[in-house]
Amino acid sequence: MIHFKSAQEVEVIKESAVILGKAHAEVAKAIKPGVKTKDLDKIADEYIHDHGGTPSFKNYHGFPSALCISVNDVVVHGFPSGYELRESDIISVDCGVKYKGFHSDSAYTYPLEGADEEVLKLLERTYESLFLGIAQAKVGNRIGDVSFAVQSHVEQFGYGVVRELVGHGVGKDLHEDPEVPNYGKRGKGPKIMPGMVFAIEPMINMGTKNVVQEKDGWTIRTKDRKPSAHFEHMVAVFEDRTEIVTTHEYIEESYKFKWRSKRA
Ligand code: MG
Ligand code: MG
Repeated sequence: MIHFKSAQEVEVIKESAVILGKAHAEVAKAIKPGVKTKDLDKIADEYIHDHGGTPSFKNYHGFPSALCISVNDVVVHGFPSGYELRESDIISVDCGVKYKGFHSDSAYTYPLEGADEEVLKLLERTYESLFLGIAQAKVGNRIGDVSFAVQSHVEQFGYGVVRELVGHGVGKDLHEDPEVPNYGKRGKGPKIMPGMVFAIEPMINMGTKNVVQEKDGWTIRTKDRKPSAHFEHMVAVFEDRTEIVTTHEYIEESYKFKWRSKRA
């Protein structure tokens, strides 16, 4: 069942998303070779608590941390750990905040300096696919239009679109209906209607679309161990427009390695 949000509820979600965007930025400032991923988790956890929120992921079905940190061939749901970041790694940071009863959820994949040019292209094209998806998230379209836009963009480069994990409605629950797959057909799926708030989150692999789950029950890795990229925004749909309610703006101000270019 889709829970439609009032304009006032969307405003609360945006407040939640500002805390989220700034928590991401604090993490972004700390990303460099030698940093342990569990230290990044601590930064986000403290920032969120200090600003009146709670981390949405912590204790969600037993997930242990505020962040999902997924390095290189980990697609999503990696645990923060004692792993120390290395030059040329890519690291996906996914975070959620609950504030005044509403969740926000967004993700960003950072390349460390020295990342391979082909990997940077994967990131840029995945980022582009997110915005192509967002452009389809409007009244009159269906979820399949969003899915198709993401899939058709990245598949032209031979990338694999992960099937097992999808975007989702967000509100009082972290994961609500509808599901928002990153693959699909134009004109199919639920109608996009005013009051819908959902996350679009392409998870795109350099190689095969196939993934495996580790024995920890969470970590999702590419089957061929090639890198994977993940970016996520939430949108709120209104009759006359769609707003991106999460922000990567603070991240992009804070992260020192200005990697996005006209490369793609
Ligand atoms: Mg999500
Ligand atoms: Mg997320």
